Amino acid sequence: MMGQYHDLCARYDDAIVLFQVGDFYETFCGAAERTARLLELTLTSRDDSTGEYPMTGIPVDNAASYIEGLLEAGYRVAIAEQVEEPGESQGVVERAVTRVITPGTLTEDELLSSDDNNFVAAVARDGEQFGLALLDVSTGDFLATSSRSQETIADELSRFSPAEAVVGPDAPTGLLEGDGTRRDPLVTPYDEAAFDLERAAEHVATYFGDPDRLLASDAEIAACGALLSYAEYARGGIAEGVEEESVGVDTDTDTGTDTGADADTGTDTDTTLETNTPTLEYLTHLTRYDPREYLLLDGVALRSLELFEPRSVDGREEATLVGVLDETASALGGRRLKDWVRRPLLEPGEIEARLDAVDTLRAAVQCREELTTLLRAVYDLERLIGRISRERANARDLQALGDTLSVVPEIRATLCDISDDADRLEELHERLDPLSDVRTLIESAIAPNPPAEITEGGIVAEGYDADLDDLRATARDGKQWIETLEETERERTGIDSLKVGYTSVHGYYIEVTNPNLEAVPEEYQRRQTLKRAERFVTPELKERESAIIGAEGRADEREYELFCAVRSAVADEVERVQALADAIATLDALCSLATVAAQYDYCRPTIVDGAPELTIEAGRHPVVERTRSSFVPNDTALGSGVGVGGMNTGDGHGDRRLAIITGPNMSGKSTYMRQVALIALLAQIGSFVPANAATIRPLERIFTRVGASDDIAGGRSTFMIEMDELATILREADERSLVLLDEVGRGTSTADGLAIAQAITEHLHEEVGALTLFATHHHPLTELVDEFAAAFALHFSADQEDGEVVFGHTIAPGAATGSYGVEVATAAGVPEAVLERSRALLEGSDDVTGPSHADASTAQTATADGGDDLTDLAAELRALDIAHLTPVEALAELDRLQRLLE
Ligand code: ADP
Ligand code: MG
Repeated sequence: MMGQYHDLCARYDDAIVLFQVGDFYETFCGAAERTARLLELTLTSRDDSTGEYPMTGIPVDNAASYIEGLLEAGYRVAIAEQVEEPGESQGVVERAVTRVITPGTLTEDELLSSDDNNFVAAVARDGEQFGLALLDVSTGDFLATSSRSQETIADELSRFSPAEAVVGPDAPTGLLEGDGTRRDPLVTPYDEAAFDLERAAEHVATYFGDPDRLLASDAEIAACGALLSYAEYARGGIAEGVEEESVGVDTDTDTGTDTGADADTGTDTDTTLETNTPTLEYLTHLTRYDPREYLLLDGVALRSLELFEPRSVDGREEATLVGVLDETASALGGRRLKDWVRRPLLEPGEIEARLDAVDTLRAAVQCREELTTLLRAVYDLERLIGRISRERANARDLQALGDTLSVVPEIRATLCDISDDADRLEELHERLDPLSDVRTLIESAIAPNPPAEITEGGIVAEGYDADLDDLRATARDGKQWIETLEETERERTGIDSLKVGYTSVHGYYIEVTNPNLEAVPEEYQRRQTLKRAERFVTPELKERESAIIGAEGRADEREYELFCAVRSAVADEVERVQALADAIATLDALCSLATVAAQYDYCRPTIVDGAPELTIEAGRHPVVERTRSSFVPNDTALGSGVGVGGMNTGDGHGDRRLAIITGPNMSGKSTYMRQVALIALLAQIGSFVPANAATIRPLERIFTRVGASDDIAGGRSTFMIEMDELATILREADERSLVLLDEVGRGTSTADGLAIAQAITEHLHEEVGALTLFATHHHPLTELVDEFAAAFALHFSADQEDGEVVFGHTIAPGAATGSYGVEVATAAGVPEAVLERSRALLEGSDDVTGPSHADASTAQTATADGGDDLTDLAAELRALDIAHLTPVEALAELDRLQRLLE
């Protein structure tokens, strides 16, 4: 057995092998020590003729949570199951790896989040091109794209946030390194041969037909082929027919998962079973997409707009866009809605089609409520059919599928009433195939409320199979005869206390107490002697008993056979089930958008084509408005030469692309800017928006940059990160972008910051032409608006009541006049002495924004005058007041001095 274990460890040397021994998965030796430590299990030991080994085990029936622990610690897990019954053969029970569980290839419901996809990615490179393939093994979603730009691929990775990334030999390493904006995938360096173009193409062809017709580039083909091969490997598909030392994951490269059970680990490998038949039956479609078909949000924007995850660590889950938008009734709908948020649309026709459907569902209140109720009864069809086709489904899964199919006709009927009003609903109505053949099969074959176990009977319905019914009748008759035995034997023998019973060891018996032993008939055969009684059997009882046992055993076998046949017949319909799942998912997501629109008083946006436009009347922040008792709506009018109505801007010109927003802290600047972006994004997923009216020309990209707070992260100053991200924006934004700049240029000296902010503003205005909202504390920036035709100023203000600041949260044209810092400090409870001193200092300057102004001019002078020779530099260094520098200021100062020196 240990030999077998070590062999498997050597073949799956990138994983922890969980080796089934009866009811436990065991690990031995080094792997046992590691597992015990990680999972806080007791380390025991195993003795055999070859020695003593450390050992630790986890129960097979309850393995999921332990496996999760191993995955979280960065390991892969290979499940080596007993593939024959103990005693079936001489010697050691045969075991094989049936599954390699990795973070990206989970199919276990317990380990997956029901309303989110779990992707594994593959990244390939072909010359200039990068190919990306994404697969959700649990649902069968399979996507591919490619690009010449590494950044584009990185953005797509942020978008889909895969749990694992499989990479080939020339995959760019930087691509997968965390940028702090998404969860880092587990990087799996994989068999080079799987990325080989010819081989990958063949692989894709076995599943989907001609790859050149399906996919746009060789890099895509390589990524898809490699990913197929990896999914097969994870499925245990490699175990047979490969003679190499080790399989699959390339062990040359450090994977961070040094699992090596004390066996010789394989070195360089060229493996992977050549597949000519698809072994992943649930993979029925591959979707090629172009990132440019969707509104692009890079990782930074995804995070700062809090679409999926709240920014604050302790943020509540519902404080995200998805959180407030998700009224879906099924897991299918939940995943579809997330996908829509991940990939907002660009094409006005597509957007309108969704809006029409949402509009119709919103208005048809009763119909929508009925649909929602029906959709709640829908199980996760995608994962169900996945399990069914992987032969992992039990009778309860089939019943769940049957139950779901039984509500489809009702969904259809309900939808029928309104499907004339929107093409999209009409289409869905047609696509809702109730699969009545499948449903009939399941309903006739599967017993009501079947047990989870599939080998112990009770899962096939009465009347489905004549043989089974016969066997069951035989067993039933036998039992009935035994039930009446006590009665008849009491009468026959005259022993009133005679009892008939059953034990699992001895089977059926007749029990007679000691005082009555004389009355026992002759044909009774003694079986067991107890203290006060004797137990007997009769030849007839024995005969009946073996008939029952025989019939029951054969019935169980027959049931298992029948069940497997039904399951595989259902599996043959995988494509139809997936198509139905797709239609239901879309319907559920549309209903969810409609419910939100109705419940929170959203309006239908007008989608326009042509010149850039983003006009919003009385817009609200969809997330913030839910967390506050009152929210003040605000208008937005951005656009290029269009009739931007709605808001009295007071500046007369119609070209308004760049807004400089000023106002005190806490007055609402950040909220306002995000609200604008979120409204545009909502419109582009086909949702109604939180406003009285909105007109939007679809955006192609949304960029956000939120100024650094004064801390230093990961060795790079946040100011560096900020500049890095700004560089991306300035390089990539265009007139179809929305750019949000929130307090950029803060992490450096005021003079530097202002200079940078001004240069950025100029560039955005003159060169880029993007719709831009720029919130800044650099008041001098507002003066720029006079110089630039398409720039204008907006501000928030605050009122003082009894020395306290009151925010109106209302945006208005023009620049702010004060920053109210001291008042905010008062409200925050800063000690009175400090406040008084601040007021005194303020009064000393003639401008409310004085400190930053004064600061700016001195610093500017210093920069201008400084640095012709070393004496100046030395003077500057001496003059540095280190005790009063923040770390970021210090960095900026160092940077400046260095440049001076150069
Ligand atoms: P700033 O960026 O100007 O410092 P924020 O946008 O962060 O201000 O807003 C500060 C606080 O004011 C937030 O906590 C938010 O809840 C509240 N707030 C912002 N805008 C509004 C609004 N329009 N109506 C009501 N409350 C608002
Ligand atoms: Mg702010």
